[in-house]
Amino acid sequence: MATILDVTLPNGKSYKQPVGLFINNEFVKSQDGKTFGVENPSTEKQIVSVYEAGEADVDLAVDAAEAAFEKWGFGDSTVRGRLLNDLADKLEEHSETLASIESSNNGKPLSLARIDVQLSADCIRNYGGWANKIYGDVVDSGEGYFNYIRREPIGVCGQVIPWNFPLLMMAWKIGPALAAGNTIVLKTAESTPLSALYAANLVKEVGFPPGVLNIVSGYGKTGQYISSHMRIKKIAFTGSTATGRHVMRSAAASNLKKVTLELGGKSPNIVFDDCDVDKAVEFANMGIYFNSGEVCCAGSRIYVQESIYETFLEKLKARAEKNVLGDPFDENTFQGPQTSRLQLDRILSYIDDGIKGGARVITGGKRVDREGYFVHPTIFADVTEDMKIVKEEIFGPVVTITKFNTVDEVIKLANDTDYGLAAGVHTTNINKAIHVANRIRAGTIWVNTYNDFHHNIPFGGFNQSGIGRELGKEGISEAYTQSKSVRIKLDI
Ligand code: NAP
Ligand code: MG
Repeated sequence: MATILDVTLPNGKSYKQPVGLFINNEFVKSQDGKTFGVENPSTEKQIVSVYEAGEADVDLAVDAAEAAFEKWGFGDSTVRGRLLNDLADKLEEHSETLASIESSNNGKPLSLARIDVQLSADCIRNYGGWANKIYGDVVDSGEGYFNYIRREPIGVCGQVIPWNFPLLMMAWKIGPALAAGNTIVLKTAESTPLSALYAANLVKEVGFPPGVLNIVSGYGKTGQYISSHMRIKKIAFTGSTATGRHVMRSAAASNLKKVTLELGGKSPNIVFDDCDVDKAVEFANMGIYFNSGEVCCAGSRIYVQESIYETFLEKLKARAEKNVLGDPFDENTFQGPQTSRLQLDRILSYIDDGIKGGARVITGGKRVDREGYFVHPTIFADVTEDMKIVKEEIFGPVVTITKFNTVDEVIKLANDTDYGLAAGVHTTNINKAIHVANRIRAGTIWVNTYNDFHHNIPFGGFNQSGIGRELGKEGISEAYTQSKSVRIKLDI
């Protein structure tokens, strides 16, 4: 099989899809020639096969990244910034193709995929601006000394990304890492390798030096090779808490590489009776059903204050039933399929568990009767806090709704979780909003909004939702540089 193939998209347009491993700016076959199939979740049909990276391939990618590091990491930072800016421009130029690839491979609606491409370009451009603005420090530390502190790149970084926002998660990872002067071996998720490989071609086209960014497709064990590799100095991972634990263990058992983790969540979305109810319904709907519920910070536990509970439930049901499900290439579609059969099965088993446990299905509760992995937007009421559907991350269009009375009660309910990625608070009372926001144990609190990101604002988890932050200043300075102190004794 060649390493670049002609592929026809569901909208009839053809394009060149790289399917090789991207090592040293070339698309290459895997050493053992192994490949695996990649599917369109709307049709359940294979799109193409891609080469699978084994251990020997990961070694080659690390060789390339290592060889590129010295010149990239300690070269002219303005050059890094310019290349990242050029890459952002290229992503925009190829936006329609990239969005179409994302829609056909991940299943998300084309209208949302276009936003993902724009956000990816914005993120990369933002970090392009950071490249030559990473400052060190000079600290007064005693007479007779001159002590300066540099921020240096870490070296070869491993990055493992999930399938829910394939291109955007790549942008969040490579933007800050490259700007700071690191080189990369990145693994995409097995179900969604295509947009990253297409973007790799653009990386090459704008003139990034060979070896600076290497992309390997593969299964979990390819991720395992990366997280346990002795010459990789840092691993950045986004995915489930269970796999995050593996990654951290592998990092500890190998070379104690630095670890940042962006993991799961079970985020509360709190609706007070003094909110603008219609707006809160919109944000509750978007909070859980956006991207088919495949969002780490999805507002999957809704808490509504007693006096508006029945009204809210009715309105949310009506709103959820208006979400248009279907072909991602139809411009009216809001919700596409789940990204894989595995994910569909997981979600259906949670729904089943909720029903068996005595929760009441307000709407949805089943698969859509058509080809593809579609699930009806689902609302569960009459839940108890110990149910699996309230405790565990479902990662699908399934939400639970619970009644509460007082501020203190809802803070307690919101914090009764192993996670701590995000939370929503809906109220028109600023005092209440700030009080509740300050008391919830999570990395992001959204007030009168939800799933609302900005590339300058750090994102990450408390508790078992992760370690470290992405985006913003922390996302580059803490995550992708390390400080070096140079202490000079003066001869005076
Ligand atoms: P996952 O196993 O955490 O996968 C995330 C990434 O890690 C993928 O690239 C995966 O490769 C890779 N991986 C798997 N095993 C690995 C290992 N031992 N060492 C290093 N990397 C490894 O997630 P999943 O199985 O796709 O989904 C399971 C659940 O994770 C979902 O239901 C959802 O709850 C959660 N999730 C969370 C996020 C998030 O944004 N926080 C994103 C996705 C999923 P493969 O794709 O080849 O398995
Ligand atoms: Mg997996």
